[in-house]
Amino acid sequence: MTFKCRHCTENLNDHILDLGHQPPSNNYLSKDQLNLAEFTYPLKVFICSKCGLVQLPEFLKPEELFTKNYAYFSSTSSSWCQHAKSFVEKAIKKLNLNKNSKVIEIASNDGYLLQYFIKENIPCIGIEPTKATALESRKKGIKTIEEFFNSKMANSLEKVDLLVANNVVAHVPNINDFMKGICTALKNEGLASIEFPHLLNIVKYTQFDTIYHEHYSYLSLIAFKQIALHANLDIIDVEEIPTHGGSLRVWLAHKNTFLISNNVNKIIEIEKSLKLTSIEGFKNLKNNAKKIKIQLLNFLLKAKDNNELVVGYGAAAKGNTLLNYCGINYDLLELIVDKSKSKQGLYMPGSHIPIIDLAKLEEIKPDKLLVLPWNLIKEISYQQKIFNLYTAIPKLQLHK
Ligand SMILES: [Zn+2]
Repeated sequence: MTFKCRHCTENLNDHILDLGHQPPSNNYLSKDQLNLAEFTYPLKVFICSKCGLVQLPEFLKPEELFTKNYAYFSSTSSSWCQHAKSFVEKAIKKLNLNKNSKVIEIASNDGYLLQYFIKENIPCIGIEPTKATALESRKKGIKTIEEFFNSKMANSLEKVDLLVANNVVAHVPNINDFMKGICTALKNEGLASIEFPHLLNIVKYTQFDTIYHEHYSYLSLIAFKQIALHANLDIIDVEEIPTHGGSLRVWLAHKNTFLISNNVNKIIEIEKSLKLTSIEGFKNLKNNAKKIKIQLLNFLLKAKDNNELVVGYGAAAKGNTLLNYCGINYDLLELIVDKSKSKQGLYMPGSHIPIIDLAKLEEIKPDKLLVLPWNLIKEISYQQKIFNLYTAIPKLQLHK
């Protein structure tokens, strides 16, 4: 079976990494489901030889992945809320937003970001297809449309001064239509701010665990610029930000309405030098992922030998990619603690490791904690000072 590029429809022949067959990363299981069949899908990443877009073929539709039980609530992470707060302050100044302005956020989750616009009396609307998070968002007083964003629905919206879309472009199979919708939603002088994990860091720091079925695309600025232009949007500026292991915040506007900052070309030149739009730029990724697998397995086996208890910290989706790629089950890692109530009592997909309340940690007294959401290590180190914290990516490491 040959897949086609979701941007330019070229046949996809070159794959850069194969993480085996895996269940969807956010399909946390109840105890009853442990006795049923569990579906897995190939987790094999391709690069388009024509436009350079790195992508997963669409095995699962967004409707199958972002269900009513979708368990990710953005507000759970205090550092992510802080990030949102600083963005809102910056955006209000940059765009001179006031009570007459209009703001929309696509994939507004539980209102982690729009709550700060509400506090400033700036009218805003959230678009969020998953029921549980949309409900939380409404509790914060945010008008929330419970739908997937696309060009058709964009036509029915009032045009906005600012459109925010953080960590969602990668989640969209029909990326061309999504970008077309953004173009439609913006006022003539309106701006869109889009954040996504930068492909450059995924390669540089072997962040292969950010690859899972929900993430259909892995974006370089070069590939994203082409996709934006195809939708009549210019990338007018770009910032490198530390979230999710290194992301880009890209500012977009209608074509030929604003001057384009030098920052755009600067990053494009770096990407060119690393050959991020051809298979050549990814030749070390497979071996580096394998090294991480061996290190992590050695770490867990050695701990077993020494009768040390290692507990996982944070039942993050990326943890599922890591554990399932490494073939780690509940016999090697018996427990994972998580502070999110919606995950407690459930089991990790594939590995079937039970997830328990973070509060139990003091009682269990593990010898070592393996932090799965390594992007939050600073926040977690601060909260869990008495434990030995380890992360596996980009290499196995103790955080003191
Ligand atoms: Zn392509």
